[in-house]
Amino acid sequence: MTAVVILLVLAATTIVTILALMLAERDMKAVIGSQQYAVLSSAAAYVDEQLETKRALLSTLPEGLPPGAQSDPSALQALLLARPAVSAEFYNVVAFDRKGRMVATLRSDSKEPSVDATGRPYFDQTIRQRKGLISAPLMSRLSGRPIVVMTQPVLDQQGEVAYVIAASIDLQQSDFFGPINALKPGKTGFMFIMTAGGILIHHPTQERLLHHINERPGHNRATEMALNGFEGWTEARNKDGSEGIYSYKRLKTTSWIVAARFPTDEAFAPLIELRRQAIFAASVFAAVAGLLAWLVIHRLLAPLQRLHSRVATLRQGGGDIASLRSMRKDEIGELGEAFYQLTAERAVTQDRVLASERRSRMIADNMPALVAYIDCDLRYRFTNEHYQQLLGVDPAAMLGKTISEVFGADVYAHWKDRIDAALRGERVHEERDSLEMGRMLHLMVDLVPDMDADGTVQGFYLMSMDITERRNAELTQAASEKRLRLITDHLPALVAYIDREYLLRFGNATFKHWMGLEPASLVARPLADVMGATAFAKTLPHLEQAFSGVHVSFEHRARLHGDLRTLETTFVPDQRADGSVAGVYSLTRDMSHIKAVEQQLIELARIDPLTGIANRRKFEEVLQQAMARSQRLGRRMALAYLDIDNFKTINDSLGHGAGDEVLKEFAGRLTGAVRAVDLVARLAGDEFIIVFENVDEVGEAAQLAAKIVATVRDPFTVAGAAMQVTTSVGLALFDGGSDNDTQSGLIARADHALYAAKRNGRDCYVVDAQAV
Ligand code: GH3
Ligand code: MG
Repeated sequence: MTAVVILLVLAATTIVTILALMLAERDMKAVIGSQQYAVLSSAAAYVDEQLETKRALLSTLPEGLPPGAQSDPSALQALLLARPAVSAEFYNVVAFDRKGRMVATLRSDSKEPSVDATGRPYFDQTIRQRKGLISAPLMSRLSGRPIVVMTQPVLDQQGEVAYVIAASIDLQQSDFFGPINALKPGKTGFMFIMTAGGILIHHPTQERLLHHINERPGHNRATEMALNGFEGWTEARNKDGSEGIYSYKRLKTTSWIVAARFPTDEAFAPLIELRRQAIFAASVFAAVAGLLAWLVIHRLLAPLQRLHSRVATLRQGGGDIASLRSMRKDEIGELGEAFYQLTAERAVTQDRVLASERRSRMIADNMPALVAYIDCDLRYRFTNEHYQQLLGVDPAAMLGKTISEVFGADVYAHWKDRIDAALRGERVHEERDSLEMGRMLHLMVDLVPDMDADGTVQGFYLMSMDITERRNAELTQAASEKRLRLITDHLPALVAYIDREYLLRFGNATFKHWMGLEPASLVARPLADVMGATAFAKTLPHLEQAFSGVHVSFEHRARLHGDLRTLETTFVPDQRADGSVAGVYSLTRDMSHIKAVEQQLIELARIDPLTGIANRRKFEEVLQQAMARSQRLGRRMALAYLDIDNFKTINDSLGHGAGDEVLKEFAGRLTGAVRAVDLVARLAGDEFIIVFENVDEVGEAAQLAAKIVATVRDPFTVAGAAMQVTTSVGLALFDGGSDNDTQSGLIARADHALYAAKRNGRDCYVVDAQAV
């Protein structure tokens, strides 16, 4: 700032000084020019006066001739010599007769008989005009010196020119110009005289006399002006390029031009000195002003300086930002406060940025993937720790290097098309095998372009995951799925895999055979779609159970190819190592055939294999239903308990086979003796039972019992021989409206009645007393 003040003061002082000097210079030039012109004018006046004097002297010469001697040359010679004034004024004076022959001379030593004035312009012109004149400068034939000639005719009595007096002025030595030289301006300035045509008559350089002023090559504006009639002073550059003040004045007597040149350097030497002094003074002034300004500014800016040094200390990481706060109540205090606020905000932001960077770094370093940021020059700007773990490359050493430098040109060429796409702003997702640091890896690579606000790509983020293991697992799984399909496709059962969203993930070829559904079309289809909403609703509870980890089997019926079939579905939970259920395997078999066989077996279990009538199980079922019906309807029923009399004897005497024959025949007779609705069953050995429904009267029951006893009495044919078989019958009645007997209670009563019949001598029946 001090330097600026010094420069400003210096500039202002210099400008003012230069302006003042320019004005002074201009005025001074005018003064010098006018002064020079005045001097020149007086010099011109002097020359004029000299010429006039000479002319006057010359014109009086003929008057000195004695009367009648106008034609006598000796008289003329005498006259010349008798006038010492003439010899003082001129270099030489001669007289020519009309024929141009020299007839008299002032300087007898230069008298030459050969001198002839004929043809000389000044001579011819004087004869013609009969008047004196001043010639152009010329080289004297008498003296060989540059001269000008002043003429005066001497007229005879007839008024004709008898002689011409020619007086020469030596341009080199003449005292004629002596006084003029004394008037030359300064030390290096000079005066000169030339004719109106530019021929030099007087000049400090003698050689130039009688030569034209413009004989020297070049151009001088002032010369041109003077030759064109200018009078006065002007400033111009001479042919050597040097500046000068030129003054010109024309003589009254001749048209000669009296001139002076004053070199500007000399003319303005005092002014240049003045200028130097002024600049020196301005510099001193500026230095003093600058020093004062520096002192004032330094004093004013001292608090600012302190603030500056505190900021500098803080930037170097030292000190407390509170030092920026000052108690000053002025602009600097406010500035300090503003700095404090700004720095505090910056510190908070910086902390946040650092924390965010730490987090990003932490996340990136702990990700099982290569994470990098690569700029437009393909140089790594960010790399995570995984480079070390996966490829053994130091991530810090990668920074600033190109992909080719780190991994080699081949790796770069392998990925180049993808990298170019990212740099064009495209997002790239790619899975491919790649040879990285000598290892063949299957990499999943994502390249995400980093674009700024105007869409220019600054670089790209790279995330690369080694999925070699995953891919191998996938390949293994695919192989295992293939095997599973191969096996399950040939099973006569629906095999499926259901995920947690109840979507099918797998279905075997049986889906095609049973339901006309292509297995491939099942993948990702909701189970509810495939089964139908109603069937799915029934299945859902079992499925939920399976998802809770329980192995579930259940039967259900469904129509396949129009037939109602019995199906059995088993849900097996697919449990992970942690116990959670990933999905459920489903196996559905058509159980219709097995069911039919089972039904048959069940039926078989209710028939006595020997006699083909109902067995005890069937009897118990029928009895229960009959008793329930009796109670519901409030009607009576009867139960007859029968035992073949002395059956052991038949067995023992005729053999077990004969016994079996008796048992079969016995069963047949019983069945034939009762109504179709009544049930005849063999309980065990030779014990049989009959359930009579709708027996209203005790008498009716007794009749039935009697009929059976009688039916058995007819002889049996066993092994081709007739034999007598009898039976004892115990009868118990059950009134559905009043009795509360249980099944076994009723049977027990009938059994008691049977024993009573046995005790009564056999081949008879007894009706249970309770019912009577
Ligand atoms: P009671 O007049 O007191 O009835 O005398 P019982 O000889 O008939 O004696 P009981 O009824 O107690 O004997 C039944 C016999 O029936 C005993 C057993 O050997 C015989 N038995 C049991 N099951 C069969 C069978 O399936 N076939 C044959 N042949 N005999 C059988
Ligand atoms: Mg018996």
